[in-house]
Amino acid sequence: MDDLIITNLSKTYRNGVKALRHVSLQIPKGMFGLLGPNGAGKSTLMRTIATLQEADHGEIQLGDLNVKVHPNELRKVLGYLPQQFGLYPSLSSEMLLNHLAVLKGIVNRQERKEIVDALLHRVNLYSVRKQKLGEFSGGMKQRFGIAQALVNNPKLVIVDEPTAGLDPVERNRFYNLLSEVGEQTIVILSTHIVDDVKELCTRMAIMNTGKVIIQGSPIEIIESLQGRLYEKTINKNELDHYKKEYRVISDRLYLGKQIVHVISDTHPGSDFKALEANLEDVYMAQILNA
Ligand code: ADP
Repeated sequence: MDDLIITNLSKTYRNGVKALRHVSLQIPKGMFGLLGPNGAGKSTLMRTIATLQEADHGEIQLGDLNVKVHPNELRKVLGYLPQQFGLYPSLSSEMLLNHLAVLKGIVNRQERKEIVDALLHRVNLYSVRKQKLGEFSGGMKQRFGIAQALVNNPKLVIVDEPTAGLDPVERNRFYNLLSEVGEQTIVILSTHIVDDVKELCTRMAIMNTGKVIIQGSPIEIIESLQGRLYEKTINKNELDHYKKEYRVISDRLYLGKQIVHVISDTHPGSDFKALEANLEDVYMAQILNA
């Protein structure tokens, strides 16, 4: 299947905020994690790909399809779960999916029923298909969100910050569902939660202040920090000193002790212990530009 190729995308809002600065990404089939802090430009990028807004410069191409020239063609093959996802609380999931299928042009009643039933099974909501959406838990709503994004059998699925507010069990179930979808389609998962990306995505990028700072597989990205990460347990009152003297990327309390992670090209001293990097470390290092 064809990759999604984003080239040199830039967007400045009227208030002067540069939300995207020369963003270029190549996104193949599978789960792609777009990681970055709030304000990084993720939603702007997602909405631009979904043709809900336009960039000032740059191109988006899905296979042969130029998205700016043929936005309607893109919409036909797009499934989108936005950050703010409105539901009709008094409708059941079955009724709303059926309605959305009508809107997507599936006119044959029997065909529509088969599609809706299959989707409800796929997201594990079949047994509650008659229940009102307003009574759904956060996790059920998000799974319904995936079902509605899949009605038109899309080639490209975009999910924007989907796990906010889900408990760990719901989050896991949601991950499993997404990775199944990613076996057949391009799935872009935008998130500020490192764990969302770590376990799930075959490719990823980190964004900050409108720019892509690194992209690749999570393993490649973690390797960028290998051999440069050190850990030390210090006294709480020494933290300021360490922050001045070293490139501290994280500090946390563990069992009452203060632990710092430091980046250094050479061994920073005998009391430091070399550490295997994980994605959280890389993320912090990239965001802090350490
Ligand atoms: P993220 O999804 O990573 O949190 P956004 O794309 O929502 O980032 O925002 C990127 C930047 O653009 C932020 O500084 C945000 O305040 C700003 N921004 C987003 N939407 C608008 C808008 N419609 N008008 C002006 N500024 C905006």
